[in-house]
Amino acid sequence: MNTWVYIDHFKGNALPASWETIGVGKTLGNVTALVFGSGIEALAKAAFEYGADEVLLADDASLVDYRAEAYATTLSKLSAERTPDLLLFPTTTRGRELAGMVAIDLRTGVMVDVTSLEATGGKITVTRPIYAGKLLTKETCSSRPQIITLRGRAFPKPAQQAGKSGTLTKVAAAIGDFPTKVEGYTTSESGVSLTDASVIVSGGRGVSNNPALTPPAGLDEKQAEIWRAQQGFALVIDLASALGAAVGASRAAVDAGYVPYTHQVGQTGKVVSPDVYIACGISGAIQHLAGMRTSKVIVAINKDPEAPIFKLARYGVVGDLFQIVPALTVAFKKKMGK
Ligand SMILES: Cc1cc2nc3c(=O)[nH]c(=O)nc-3n(C[C@H](O)[C@H](O)[C@H](O)COP(=O)(O)OP(=O)(O)OC[C@H]3O[C@@H](n4cnc5c(N)ncnc54)[C@H](O)[C@@H]3O)c2cc1C
Repeated sequence: MNTWVYIDHFKGNALPASWETIGVGKTLGNVTALVFGSGIEALAKAAFEYGADEVLLADDASLVDYRAEAYATTLSKLSAERTPDLLLFPTTTRGRELAGMVAIDLRTGVMVDVTSLEATGGKITVTRPIYAGKLLTKETCSSRPQIITLRGRAFPKPAQQAGKSGTLTKVAAAIGDFPTKVEGYTTSESGVSLTDASVIVSGGRGVSNNPALTPPAGLDEKQAEIWRAQQGFALVIDLASALGAAVGASRAAVDAGYVPYTHQVGQTGKVVSPDVYIACGISGAIQHLAGMRTSKVIVAINKDPEAPIFKLARYGVVGDLFQIVPALTVAFKKKMGK
């Protein structure tokens, strides 16, 4: 099968899900990696080292910033000329966007956020979660090329083979009068990326609930709640940093202003699949579970033994998070020699 894999990157730094996507492509046969950007030869080299047999390199100043129209037109043009059987993308924001635009250009369909797949002859059958992860559906696509986006961390990352090379083919970028232009970038926050993290510690509304804390004088009720929540979240952040983990949050925590939206996990937030997900003071509403139910090991800390999160958790701690979370931080720091 002639499989193409889109390598998603920011300024030459690939998202790890791109390498996972090459790994999946390799299970089906030879892989051609699509590397688009400007000054990105090193990325092409890395694509070979993660298993690509060929790289189609569109290295052009017009591609220095990701712009959906320029990237999709380049990809659609190449695809129409060279007719691959299968296009694979990581399910990243850019991957999803490009997959949809290219599917329209090529008059085919897209199967998104796939968590497993199998090939029979040239036909791929995918499995993907639907209805907030309550059901798994099996799907096929009758048109060609088949276009699939793969959920990050649902597939193993192949080992890097230093020095491995392959066929490098330079291709032209589609030059056009594309309407959007990137004016600049602003860093919104630092820290471990939620979607790439192997461990996530998340906080919910429960973190605002520490009656032992007395807010500073002069705060109104809402300000006092946010102040309490920030103290509570500091415990979650401490535990996350002891573990080298990313910090997540429920929508209740985000809506109440405890932490920014970029931390939200769930149906209307980020979908994550870490090795370990530690939920602190989160009840386990279906919309939250939709974003983290494929985590490999779920640990829940909640004072309510009936909280729905315990139905999904491998390990459940019934108790007060304000005692348990700091104790865990101390224990992990000790264990890890920090
Ligand atoms: C269309 C739609 C989309 C949505 N999308 C999302 C989404 O993407 N992500 C998301 O998370 N939600 C989403 N929601 C909201 C979701 O339905 C829930 O309201 C939300 O997840 C609840 O967040 P929570 O668990 O933090 O709060 P709560 O449900 O209020 O739970 C707080 C928990 O903290 C526990 N607790 C309190 N004090 C302590 C303590 N001291 N120690 C230990 N435990 C304690 C309580 O027992 C409770 O279980 C969505 C809702 C809708 C309608």
